[in-house]
Amino acid sequence: MSKRQVLGNVLSRMGLLGLLRRLEKRRPSLKILAYHRIKDIDVGKYLFDEELVDATVQDFDRQMAFISRHYQVLPLSEAYDLLTSGKPVDQVVSVTFDDGFEDLYTNMFPIVKKYDIRPTVFIATDLIGTSETLWTEKIVQAVKTAHGKTLDIAFVNEGQPIQVNAASQGKIIAQILRHTKDIPYTERLAYVDKLFNSLAYAYEEHPDSRFMSWEMVQEMSAWGVEFGSHTCKHAVLASVDYETQKYELEASKAEIERRLSKPCRNLAYPYGGPKSTNKETERVMSELSYDHACSYISGVNYPDTVNRFQLRRLHVDRTVDLNWFKAKVTRPSLFAADFYKN
Ligand SMILES: [Zn+2]
Repeated sequence: MSKRQVLGNVLSRMGLLGLLRRLEKRRPSLKILAYHRIKDIDVGKYLFDEELVDATVQDFDRQMAFISRHYQVLPLSEAYDLLTSGKPVDQVVSVTFDDGFEDLYTNMFPIVKKYDIRPTVFIATDLIGTSETLWTEKIVQAVKTAHGKTLDIAFVNEGQPIQVNAASQGKIIAQILRHTKDIPYTERLAYVDKLFNSLAYAYEEHPDSRFMSWEMVQEMSAWGVEFGSHTCKHAVLASVDYETQKYELEASKAEIERRLSKPCRNLAYPYGGPKSTNKETERVMSELSYDHACSYISGVNYPDTVNRFQLRRLHVDRTVDLNWFKAKVTRPSLFAADFYKN
């Protein structure tokens, strides 16, 4: 348990968060919570990326109960407009989700309806309504289903052959993901092809890694969930050229607007760390009339310092218990770890 978690728990149990919240309220701010998936999993048996599963159904329910009780919770575009309106604002919270997995419809949607919270969901539009999934999900499944095989590929185990088993899989997956996120798109395709061939792996649609259908997206949108872009193919924007960035951002925006008959004003950059975007990204964002965009860098947004194309978010993950969650949302500067590992 980290020091932040221990301290957060202690303050929360002592009932001191109310005091911290009153102190924090002197400075208007926008806190954007970042999630990927809400799902009950058995980590030992789970074949996909458990790092994307940020809360159990019960934990998420309790988290939403807390923020609906203490904060004004708005979809991101409304919260952003309020923060930058020049009008006096209190503390505002937005709840955001990246990618567009099916559990957002089956698990998340009933809970936000229960608390009347309208979240914002950033979707990789090429994956919605298909039998496809994220390439990172396939890498994780390829390794987790290869126990007993020997893997001999660059950037894993310093180029030395390694047997895949329960003890080595975590390290192998981490090394492959780290390498593939940073290389140009075409190199990545070639590398992943080689990996899958060497493990005799082919992805088949799986309920644990399925994306939402457009009908689900439309139903959620009609209720009040906001949808923003997460590119078409979950592209690492900094790893593709200007024209490809423009395509990824333009086509995904157009698809959302066509399917939902509502403007798509915002975007979350896939991965969202400091290396995920470059100077051309912001140029494209302005050219395409995107209004604001989320990074995945930890922090809170204030009216006087907000950077509209690099909004900060507060990431929630499975290790965050309810008391720590309350402390994190109440006083992020004390309790939110700088989680971006680059
Ligand atoms: Zn993503």
